[in-house]
Amino acid sequence: MRNADYKALAFGLSEQPMVKLDNGVTLQEDAARHFVALQKRACESGLALCAASGFRSYRAQLAIFDAKWAAQRPVLDDQDRPLSRSDYTDEEWLMRILRFSALPGTSRHHWGTDIDVYDPSLLPNGQALRLVPSEYGEEGCFAALTAWIDRQIETDSAEGFSRPYDHDRGGVAVEPWHLSYLPQASLLSKWVTPEALSELWMQAPDLRPQCYKLVADRLGPIFDQYVVS
Ligand SMILES: [Zn+2]
Repeated sequence: MRNADYKALAFGLSEQPMVKLDNGVTLQEDAARHFVALQKRACESGLALCAASGFRSYRAQLAIFDAKWAAQRPVLDDQDRPLSRSDYTDEEWLMRILRFSALPGTSRHHWGTDIDVYDPSLLPNGQALRLVPSEYGEEGCFAALTAWIDRQIETDSAEGFSRPYDHDRGGVAVEPWHLSYLPQASLLSKWVTPEALSELWMQAPDLRPQCYKLVADRLGPIFDQYVVS
C-alpha cells in the first residue's frame, strides 16, 4: 500500500473494500477472519460472541461527535448518568465527550481492525445493549464474556485481538467491550498524529468538528491523554 492509502485508512477515509460479517458489521479481511475464529472458540465455551460495531468512517464519527457537542446525543458520566450541558464550560464538555467518544480521525474504529463485542444471549429480555462499563463488570450481564476474553488474552489465545482500553489512564475510560486486531492496528496507529490530523483539517475544512477551534488549540494534550496508540 502507498503511504497515502495508509493515511486514508488510518483516518477512516479509505474507499478500500472491507468484509461484512453476518450481522452487517464491517471489518478488514484479516481481522474479520480472525474474529470469526474467535467466535467459534467462544461458541465452544457456550458464549455467543457478537460484534456490535466494527469499522466506522470518519464522517460517521464526526456526526456522533458533533451531536454530542451540540447535546443532541447523551453525554454520560462514569456511572452511565447523562450530563447536563449547562453544568459545564466548553472545555469541560469537550473532555466529558472525549472520555467515551473519540475525536474524529482518532477512533480505532476507523481502521476496520477494532470491534465492540457483546453476547446477545446474556442480555436480559427486552434490554437493549448500552455498551457501558456496568454491563461488563463483575455484577453485569456480560461478566462471563468479560472473564472469557480476559482468559484468552492472558493465555495468548485471542487470535491476535487485545484490549487497547484496558485500564484507566485518566483520559479514555476503560472499555472492556472493545477489541483490537493488533497485527493490523499497529500498522495504522503510527499514522494518526496531531500533525497529520491538523494537516487533514487544513486541506479539508468540511471535515472539521464543530468545536474545531477549541480542539485545534489543544490537539497535542488531547492526543497525550485520549488517543491510545
Ligand atoms: Zn469501540
